[in-house]
Amino acid sequence: MAGVSNGADEADDTGVTDEVDEIAGDGEAGVAVDRVGKTYEGDGTPVRALDDVSFAVEEGEFVCLVGPSGCGKTTLFRVIAGLTDATDGQVLLGGTPVIGPTTDMGVVFQEYHLFPWLTVAENVGFGLERSDRTDAERERRVDEMLELVGLSEFRDSYPKSLSGGMKQRVAIARALAVDPELLLMDEPFGAVDAQTREMLQRELLDVWQSTGKTVLFVTHDVAEAVTLADRIVVMAAEPGRVAEVVDVDVDRPRERGDPAFGEHVARVRELIGARP
Ligand code: ADP
Ligand code: MG
Repeated sequence: MAGVSNGADEADDTGVTDEVDEIAGDGEAGVAVDRVGKTYEGDGTPVRALDDVSFAVEEGEFVCLVGPSGCGKTTLFRVIAGLTDATDGQVLLGGTPVIGPTTDMGVVFQEYHLFPWLTVAENVGFGLERSDRTDAERERRVDEMLELVGLSEFRDSYPKSLSGGMKQRVAIARALAVDPELLLMDEPFGAVDAQTREMLQRELLDVWQSTGKTVLFVTHDVAEAVTLADRIVVMAAEPGRVAEVVDVDVDRPRERGDPAFGEHVARVRELIGARP
């Protein structure tokens, strides 16, 4: 990872937009999405999945990305994670262009992507295998992460014996184990029941507050975004683009019954054209 000053210079060299530069250019863990476009060239007509998408996430900030199905959320997630190339523009992490997957980002997918043949502790420690840590240090880190997500007593269990919510806690612990600058999540709670989902949301906020990580969280669930985010990047479809960025000025912990909560949900729904 480049240093702070180097990162800021690079941001200038690469011609990042002033707005994006101002907010993320100097932040070691800030993310800048700078005029990103993505066209899928299929057999038939090319699909413009993303068009001129720019926004920034400040270091330590919790930003949600919401929008209707097909508006390019997963495409953008994959571009930011370095899993696919943008057709236009670039993504900067701490001022440095993202050119491929990096341990500076902890990534959590909707499907748990756990290794079924490894125990919970082995799954969490997977990304640490290639680090310089000694066995004892790795062990300690895994224990810390399991403690953080409340799964210490399941360290020797296998994924198949866990509920969906527990599997996603393991995935979060694994993503955080390498101490990434950014936690990047794509609909991570999409596969669990409503009650578990609300519990995982509360837990994620606790983890965010205790670790101070920068979080970018993709969801199509507007209430989830209003529960979690400092700011919400609202996307529109065809082509996938940013409709508006909404500040969520509601104190935490947030209650769904609070009028301010309802107003934000209504505002975001209106922007994405969904019925309230
Ligand atoms: P979202 O996650 O918001 O539902 P996606 O990023 O998955 O949206 O998809 C955005 C658009 O790009 C959709 O029209 C989708 O059909 C198209 N798309 C996604 N992945 C591919 C791909 N690998 N090849 C061609 N088109 C794709
Ligand atoms: Mg998606």
